[in-house]
Amino acid sequence: MSALVGVRLDEARVRDEIIAFGRSIFDRGLTAGSSGNISVRLADGWLLTPTNACLGRLDPGRISKLDFDGKLVSGDPPSKEAFLHRAMYEERSGAAAIVHLHSTYSAAVSCVSDLDESNCIPPLTAYYVMKIGRLPLIPYFRPGDPALAEAIRIRARRHSAVLLANHGPVVSGTSLEAAAYAIEELEETAKLFLLLRNIPTRPLNDEQIEELKSVFDLAF
Ligand SMILES: [Zn+2]
Repeated sequence: MSALVGVRLDEARVRDEIIAFGRSIFDRGLTAGSSGNISVRLADGWLLTPTNACLGRLDPGRISKLDFDGKLVSGDPPSKEAFLHRAMYEERSGAAAIVHLHSTYSAAVSCVSDLDESNCIPPLTAYYVMKIGRLPLIPYFRPGDPALAEAIRIRARRHSAVLLANHGPVVSGTSLEAAAYAIEELEETAKLFLLLRNIPTRPLNDEQIEELKSVFDLAF
C-alpha cells in the first residue's frame, strides 16, 4: 500500500469517527439544532463540521476540509466558528481534535455572574481535574468577532479547555475521543456545580490536586 493510499484511508477513518461522535453527542442532547462543531487535525490540514449542519446527521463526504491557513479545500462551507478551532490549534501543537458545544449546563455556568475568570468551575471531582484541569473564562464577544480568537489564543497557550462567556465550552484533546470525553466530563461537572450552588461544598484541596498532577502527570 502506497503512503498516499494510507493517508486517504486514515482520512476516511477520521471522517467516520467525526460522524460517530457527532451522532452520539446529538443523541444524548448535548447539542441542539445545528449548534456545536467538531474538528480533527490531519497531516495536510484539518476537517471541520460544516455550517448549519446538525451533528446528529452529518455526511462524511460533505465535511469541510481546510488547509492550515483556514481556506476551504473540499466539502461544504465550514462552520462560522472555524476561527475558534484555528486559534486553538495554532497555540496547542499537541491538539489533535477540538469539540465546541452550546451544551446546556456548561452554557448555563458561562452566564453565572462573578465567576473566577481564571478557573470558573471548582475542582469538584478527581475525574474533572484529570480531564479538564483549570477552566478559564473568555469574556463575551459577539458571534464572529475576530477579537474572540485573540482572547482564546491567550488562554489556550496554557489550557486545553476554555469556557466562552454567555456561549459554551471549547475543548481540545490529543484525539477526538479524548476531546469528546473531556467536554462530556465538563458538562457533567457543570451540572454538579449548578446543583451545589448555595449548598456548602468541599471541593478537592490543593494537596489532593497536587497529588493528581504528580501521579497522572497532568500539566495545568
Ligand atoms: Zn458556539
